[in-house]
Amino acid sequence: MLKTSDNTLDPDDWPAFRAQGHQMLDDMLDYLEHLRTQPVWQPQPQAVRGTFRQQLDDSPGDLAETHDLFMKTILPYAVGNTHPGFMGWVHGGGTPVGMLADMLAAGLNANLGGRDQAPVELERQLVQWVRGLFGFPETAGGLLVSGTSMANLISVLIARTALLGASVRRTGIAASTQRLVAYTSTSAHLSIAQAMDIAGIGSDALRMIPVNGDYQMDVAALAEAIAADKQAGLTPFFIAATVGTVDVGAIDPLSAIAEFARREKLWFHVDGAYGALAILAPDLAPRLQGIGLADSLAFDFHKWGQVPYDAGFILVRDSRQQLDTFASPAAYLMRETRGLAAGSPWPCDLGPELSRSFRALKTWFTIKVYGAEKLGHIIANTCLLAQHLEQRIAASPQLELLAPVALNIVCFRYRSADANRINAEITVAVQESGIAAPSTTLLHGKLAIRAAIVNHRTTADDIDALVNAVLDFGNRLTTQAQDNR
Ligand SMILES: *Cc1c(COP(=O)(O)O)cnc(C)c1O
Repeated sequence: MLKTSDNTLDPDDWPAFRAQGHQMLDDMLDYLEHLRTQPVWQPQPQAVRGTFRQQLDDSPGDLAETHDLFMKTILPYAVGNTHPGFMGWVHGGGTPVGMLADMLAAGLNANLGGRDQAPVELERQLVQWVRGLFGFPETAGGLLVSGTSMANLISVLIARTALLGASVRRTGIAASTQRLVAYTSTSAHLSIAQAMDIAGIGSDALRMIPVNGDYQMDVAALAEAIAADKQAGLTPFFIAATVGTVDVGAIDPLSAIAEFARREKLWFHVDGAYGALAILAPDLAPRLQGIGLADSLAFDFHKWGQVPYDAGFILVRDSRQQLDTFASPAAYLMRETRGLAAGSPWPCDLGPELSRSFRALKTWFTIKVYGAEKLGHIIANTCLLAQHLEQRIAASPQLELLAPVALNIVCFRYRSADANRINAEITVAVQESGIAAPSTTLLHGKLAIRAAIVNHRTTADDIDALVNAVLDFGNRLTTQAQDNR
């Protein structure tokens, strides 16, 4: 039992607590050092699930015992995105450095809503770095958020306020005679539609523009849709392009869309959730040309940037528009110039959250310790691994590629007369084997096995293990099907 004095939660016996703390740190470092000896993922046994159905117990417990429960019932049954064989979704792998930094942040327990404190200055340092990386002007501002879903929502709200004026915050969009419409591609992430929904504009007001053979937004179709909406008396206001679509990793033609948005006076948003950080890789950065023209850019440090969850970012070209959307002028204009309450504007003036965690620390540690160049190398390497996978598919007559490989996502399938069913079964079998964790997606009605290579730990051997497992299960499942005839 953890002993504490009457009116505090700190331990009585600090040396014993310290020893247990070191043990917990060692256990996590062991876990990270020996990830490869474990399955990527394994289903939770019913007995383990059952341990999470207990009544709340009022009495104090023991730290070591609780940690033991964590090691036995939680750690082995997570999604597996730390593991080199994880390729199912665009999840970052995390790093030991990020883990340690997050521990420091938890110890400091800073609240990043505002006030005059170094943690807020550190977040401003990151904003400056991000601004420079993407070639945004000095007027640009930004904020760390939970993820790109939140960043996309923030951008829709800012674009709405920029169009209708700050009074929309009081009156709501219903008070306007204008009917706003937004545009994105059919390959866009669902969070764009969700942002329209939460912003009160409605997901019906989001036009899903078709894509070309490379899954990029068709700019001619975009122009037609906007002309038709204007003809119908609607008010186009927002275009969201994607850098790195979730299905196949496609990059929309940013410069062309930026140019079009400028001419039509529309807000140009880029959802670069995972893809934007390709800016760190010299060979990939040219493909992001035009990203610096965005009015707002959303991306995640927790995907390709490998920062532990969660660490999303919103960068806004004109930070005044961000203030106009979120700050309460009465509060932020009247803040102190000295003392703890100085340093306005605060992060809470730039987004919907007041209490905020110290996401900046793990992000700063990751960039400081590994260096931006190394992070760019890791990103480029995942794309090389995707090319290796593409070559393995081309060399295997039983396999076929289902979409061009733009970056680090490969969609393929095992050839079969009953391909959709067989490939769904292969994917589950591979996941349950613990060898690798791909996922599936539908491309033009064809079910694809999708490998999103994001994790810095993944090697060519892991790619080979995936291919071999797919071939193995594919052969077994199709022979079974023949035997059953
Ligand atoms: C992952 C992703 C999102 C959502 O980001 P979260 O950080 O999960 O909120 C949005 N758009 C794209 C293109 C993504 O890949």
